[in-house]
Amino acid sequence: MADRPLALVTGASRGIGAAVARALAPTHRLLLGGRDELALAELAGELPETSPWPVDLTDASAVAAAAAEIDSLDVLVHSAGVAKLGTVEDSPAEVWRHNFEVNVVAVAELTRLLLPALRAARGHVVLINSGQGLAAREGWGAYAASKFGLRAFADVLRAEETALRVTSVFPGRTDTQMQQAVVAGEGGDYTPEKYLRPESVAAAVCSAVLASPDAHLTEITVRPRPR
Ligand code: NAP
Repeated sequence: MADRPLALVTGASRGIGAAVARALAPTHRLLLGGRDELALAELAGELPETSPWPVDLTDASAVAAAAAEIDSLDVLVHSAGVAKLGTVEDSPAEVWRHNFEVNVVAVAELTRLLLPALRAARGHVVLINSGQGLAAREGWGAYAASKFGLRAFADVLRAEETALRVTSVFPGRTDTQMQQAVVAGEGGDYTPEKYLRPESVAAAVCSAVLASPDAHLTEITVRPRPR
């Protein structure tokens, strides 16, 4: 039997990335990106044909070494991300740098290093963006700007690499550790039922990845629906 297609999911140690990995597991071999080696090993132990890919995406030489091991890649899902929030007044350069470093620069560099492998497979790049990548609101400046940058990156990649599929997914608030930290910072009550389930975002990713080969789902917006 032919090998199943190979997918690398960054941010797979928890949250949306872990849900994407679980959702792709029935159809794909998986590499699980993240820094939390224990969490990656646990998830890899649950899923067939799955290996941890423990790399700090801001460590350029580690990323280059790990990417060099991959010679053909069918799906690259960028879910790793950070959300350092604050008003313009309260956001020094370090806040802007950290959001851009993880949410944009690391995505661009990993994609660049994996382009030969993606081209070899006529592969698919999925970028977990955010509603903040479509409309920015007060208090979210550096994060929203990084996600606007990520949307531009996706559009440029799609225009340049015409053999690849490139999908931006724009989730609203989703019940993950990132959202718990955001709500704690806002001083509100955490009510998970108000937010998307990570599995629902993962289902949107699967709809793009599993679309028939002639179909290219370029942008998917997923908003929470009141329950
Ligand atoms: P999360 O629960 O905080 O998970 C973030 C993931 O990113 C973790 O797996 C973390 O892994 C990884 N990561 C962070 N920095 C990294 C680094 N330097 N190197 C490698 N991996 C790194 O967040 P989430 O809610 O699942 O968010 C996933 C994506 O969805 C993000 O891009 C986020 O902006 C976006 N998003 C989230 C929401 C939401 O409401 N939650 C809404 C819209 C969009 P390790 O800690 O193991 O390194």
